[in-house]
Amino acid sequence: MNKMRINSERLLDNLNKLKTFTDTPGEGVTRFSYSAKDAEARAYIIDRAEKAGASIHIDALQNIRMGLKTNRPGHKTLVAGSHIDTVRNGGWLDGIYGVCSALEVLETLSENDFSGEYNFEAVVFAEEEGSNFGSTMTGSKFIAGIYNEENLDKLTRDDGLSLRQVLCSLTDSRVYSIPGPGGINAEDIESLPWDFSQIKAMVELHIEQGPILDKSGERLGIIDSIFGMRVIEVVMEGVGNHAGATPMSQRQDALSAAAEAILKAEEIVRSDEDRRTVVTVGKMEIAPNCSNVIPEKVCFSLEVRDKDEAKINRFMDRIIAAIRDIAKARKVSCSCREHSHSLPLHLDDRLAQGMKNAAEKSGIPFRYMDSGAVHDACMIAYKVPTGMIFVPSINGRSHVPEEDTKPEDLVAGAEFLFEIVCRELG
Ligand SMILES: [Zn+2]
Repeated sequence: MNKMRINSERLLDNLNKLKTFTDTPGEGVTRFSYSAKDAEARAYIIDRAEKAGASIHIDALQNIRMGLKTNRPGHKTLVAGSHIDTVRNGGWLDGIYGVCSALEVLETLSENDFSGEYNFEAVVFAEEEGSNFGSTMTGSKFIAGIYNEENLDKLTRDDGLSLRQVLCSLTDSRVYSIPGPGGINAEDIESLPWDFSQIKAMVELHIEQGPILDKSGERLGIIDSIFGMRVIEVVMEGVGNHAGATPMSQRQDALSAAAEAILKAEEIVRSDEDRRTVVTVGKMEIAPNCSNVIPEKVCFSLEVRDKDEAKINRFMDRIIAAIRDIAKARKVSCSCREHSHSLPLHLDDRLAQGMKNAAEKSGIPFRYMDSGAVHDACMIAYKVPTGMIFVPSINGRSHVPEEDTKPEDLVAGAEFLFEIVCRELG
């Protein structure tokens, strides 16, 4: 029986402290990777880990690995972690809850001088949300070898700077790995993918970001599968003209066409029998965006998610065909460009079964569920056995300032993570 216990006050303290590292105080947490607030959050976390005697390793992408002081060379490592970056005006728990819980596990193991069959590391994955470069899970994609050197130049921020340029502009050597005068070199890049032969497994604890646990009253979610997604960028181009002088019959209005296309996409996806497929248009630009000019050009993102890849493709193909038909009927041009995609994933059955056994033993109400959101764990799951645990999100809200979870659920999730880690460490 495990006698060690995490320090729940310390966990909540850390979370509350890290909540203050935001660019938008009072309006949720805005903490993009590589920003000044990111540096402050990193300093706080690294400081705690160092006080616990952990070894700190930061790679060129700025992913952080914090190794337990009793880790021994030649033993495989169990990894727990998540991300600390947020969307704009996001919540205070997305990502950082998993990091603080992994840190709490590290601190607890450290103060108990724990040494098991396996090593333990708490990990901070960089640039998960895609807030800078529009590509999610960037840090873990480099770790898993899905991204390579090319992506350093291909990924660009709204200000035109590439990922490589942003990484080369970092100066705080306490919390970032600063490239030499020649920039990021071949060695830096070669060392980005992990040696997965040395990784036993990974566990990520995260808030649910949806309403299922909050509605059901269950306190833990053990994740079976993670939704995949396909994202396209649609451009519709019509003719800009005077909003008063152009009769309705002679308009080629790009925004009206886009509006019809978006509603049609919803209608197509709502026809899904098991009602789990989702479609979202979350980003749109209108030109010239003037109240008295007929919109000439509209660009928008459109993404479809499900746990069944064939279904994602089926829906996306129907949506693209519908967009083309609508464009044709409204005499606007359109292009649909593939932006990104990620495959649905089934997580490790052995880990999930271990979690189920642990939850049953502790008497905590739990459910097996799928994750509609994609997480760093997905990238690692391509390489080693990976598990995920959810705690409830109040009213299912996330990526908004209202994002919250009851303190007792935050503590229960971290205790559960600790239990799972201890079981796995042997
Ligand atoms: Zn997250």
